[in-house]
Amino acid sequence: MLKKSNVLHGPLTSEELSEAERFWIQFEQEKFFSEEFKSLKDSKIENESPLYNYIPYLDENRLIRLGGRLEFCNLSINEKHPLILPKNSWLTTLIVRREHNKVMHGGTASTLAQVRSNYWIPKGRQLVKKVIRNCFICRKYLAEPIDQLTSPLPSDRINQTPAFSVCGLDFALDLSTSITSESCKYPILFYLLAELPEHIHLELVSDMTTNSFLLAFRRFLARRVKNPETHPELKVGDVLIEENTKNKLLWKLGKIERTLPERDNKTRCYELKTSGRLLKRTVQHLYPLEL
Ligand SMILES: [Zn+2]
Repeated sequence: MLKKSNVLHGPLTSEELSEAERFWIQFEQEKFFSEEFKSLKDSKIENESPLYNYIPYLDENRLIRLGGRLEFCNLSINEKHPLILPKNSWLTTLIVRREHNKVMHGGTASTLAQVRSNYWIPKGRQLVKKVIRNCFICRKYLAEPIDQLTSPLPSDRINQTPAFSVCGLDFALDLSTSITSESCKYPILFYLLAELPEHIHLELVSDMTTNSFLLAFRRFLARRVKNPETHPELKVGDVLIEENTKNKLLWKLGKIERTLPERDNKTRCYELKTSGRLLKRTVQHLYPLEL
């Protein structure tokens, strides 16, 4: 039993840590390389030994070290003749973990290089890979997002339709305003989904209000969209709003009395009844009443 006066207090010193490591490495080497330990005391090694190719020898602390041809090199003893660690020892796994942390969770190559600066592990690459595979921090960093099949393309993007039948739009505030006048300074882009440069229709609006947008949208429809199929189907009897001024609330209500189909049996013009009068309007000037 240790007497109380012999017990040391305070943090462990580097000498104590080195001594403990030396003790446990020797303990594991004797456990896993018991035959080699016996024969190396006589500076011999059996041909059948798994350590035969490493030309091992026992140093002054009775630790098995790697031989080799670097004896007269200026490197440290651990670099010239690293300690041989058994691959299946738990101590070896702990040492590889420590070296892996030292290289800030580096990959297999950097961890293995760090390990080999002091130790030699037969088939060490496999062990290093296993340690990294089980490292929680590395698993977090190497985690991949779940792969999911992309959804099928919508029919609008894969079927042939007339130009501008299907399009997107956006306000383009970052375009230079030097080309615009005072009253129209917000360019608005209508673009095809293909987004080729020649497939862009540019409209200018004076501000970013709904009314300005609707006017620009109608100008765009009048210029580009010739196919009435892109509009909701209008039928006789539908109540519509007839455009007159910017303010939608001031627009007159109308009722479709008659459709006026053209030669291709498509209707682009309607006869409307509004306030006792009959009017003819093209489809671009008609809005379904949103009820
Ligand atoms: Zn790691």
